[in-house]
Amino acid sequence: MYIGRFAPSPTGPLHLGSIMIAIASFLEAKVNNGLWHLKIDDLDHFRVKQEYINQIKEQLLELNLSWDGEIIFQSKRIANYNFFLHKIESLRRTYICTCSRKKILTNSEPGIDGGIYPGTCRHKNNTRKKNHAIRVLTNKEIVALNDGLQGHYEQDIEEQIGDFIIKRSDNIVSYQLAVIVDDYLDKTTHILRGADLLESTPRQIYLQKILSLPQINYIHLPTLNIAGRKLSKSNGDDLMYKNDPKKIWLTVLKFLDQKIPPKNLTLNEIIEFAIKNWCVKNIKSKRFIDIDDYIHTS
Ligand code: GLU
Ligand code: ZN
Repeated sequence: MYIGRFAPSPTGPLHLGSIMIAIASFLEAKVNNGLWHLKIDDLDHFRVKQEYINQIKEQLLELNLSWDGEIIFQSKRIANYNFFLHKIESLRRTYICTCSRKKILTNSEPGIDGGIYPGTCRHKNNTRKKNHAIRVLTNKEIVALNDGLQGHYEQDIEEQIGDFIIKRSDNIVSYQLAVIVDDYLDKTTHILRGADLLESTPRQIYLQKILSLPQINYIHLPTLNIAGRKLSKSNGDDLMYKNDPKKIWLTVLKFLDQKIPPKNLTLNEIIEFAIKNWCVKNIKSKRFIDIDDYIHTS
């Protein structure tokens, strides 16, 4: 059984890029007669707001994107995350890191996802302090995946990322660990998300292997770029077509090179058409979709 999910972080309302991910993951689940879960990635309580959670639900429902089952909240799973954290610790694959952010910044080479951690604390045998982070030991093994859109992608995590954090110094479990625990608990079989997370995926597979958790199928969709910059919560607002869900659906289908429905359909008919004609392989761009052309002509 296909089980997919959409996992927004409620640090703002959904922008068009995240709506595109919601629509695409929904369509992919429907085409495969699967389930589509909604998971709220609300671990970072410094940035999360309840009003954004409400807004996200409203935005999805306005687009007729209704999820299966109860909404899943990361904030209710702290005990699960700690269980798996302790499991990795008991396998002696972790160490305590007491480096300050500043120290890491000055000591590390720039990498594909921030600075490459130089392993400063690897052999220090640090004892627990109030604000320590926990890192997982990496090794020479190359971690690879076969992405449904990006194709073969591989990483030497030790060299390109370094030993990475699984519990932050503010005591919050890292996204990398939380996400694999979630997908295990939710029996997720397929993940469709933005290509900005492609570089994270080998770390997630690495943790799954350490914990002997099942592997998942991935499709990483290009992110939307506006004037050469990634679309974010602070730009591209004019593209939200408020109260016009049909226009949002049609725009997203256009961005994703899908067959465009005939004119004058209702929202439900557009969605039916989109499900019937959905094909991931149609997507021409890989890492980014430049949307400037679309904005100025529509
Ligand atoms: N919450 C993450 C984000 O919005 C997505 C996590 C995921 O799909 O794995 O970037
Ligand atoms: Zn350190």
